[in-house]
Amino acid sequence: MTENEVRIGVLALQGDFALHAKALVRCGAEAVEVRKPAELATCDGLVIPGGESTTLLKLMDEWGFVPAIEKFHAEGKPIFGTCAGLIVLAREVENPRQFSLGLIDVTVERNAYGRQRESFEASGAARLDGPPAPLEMVFIRAPRIRRVGPGVEPLAEHRGEPVLARQGTVLVATFHPELTEDTAVHRYFCDLVRRAQAAA
Ligand code: GLN
Repeated sequence: MTENEVRIGVLALQGDFALHAKALVRCGAEAVEVRKPAELATCDGLVIPGGESTTLLKLMDEWGFVPAIEKFHAEGKPIFGTCAGLIVLAREVENPRQFSLGLIDVTVERNAYGRQRESFEASGAARLDGPPAPLEMVFIRAPRIRRVGPGVEPLAEHRGEPVLARQGTVLVATFHPELTEDTAVHRYFCDLVRRAQAAA
């Protein structure tokens, strides 16, 4: 794939946005921190990082990000949500039920690994534009994807459950790919953004 320059926003309201920006730059993209909806206009893609989904939602609502992100998605621009970012993008959220954007047809359960396993690392294999390749995954108070709709393609599993999945231009991970050296998942997202930009 040609490395045409793409500009990817990282929602910087809360949570661990700086490491996402670093990973995107390592993949040859330009990364910008997004704090106001108007800043989305110049972005070709958007990362919604992990953090605390209730806090993230409150800030998104205050700043008017809900309609702005819906419009961004409707324009065909890719969005990547990790952990709390996945929770806000899901169709349905449990434990407890809460508002979400519904841009990917999955049901997620928050904080679903229990207190004993608040954070842990696991290795698995991811199918990212090629044969399955090993992937290290860091889970922090992670949600579990309890249901995937028919249009959703699982791209990696942990103990038989999807932990990385895509529906069209929306990519989600229950883990934190920005916390490992391996940039495979960010590279995959950058390629998605390049393809969407080329098709626009
Ligand atoms: N436990 C958080 C939530 O439910 C998500 C954790 C994370 O993003 N690392 O919102």
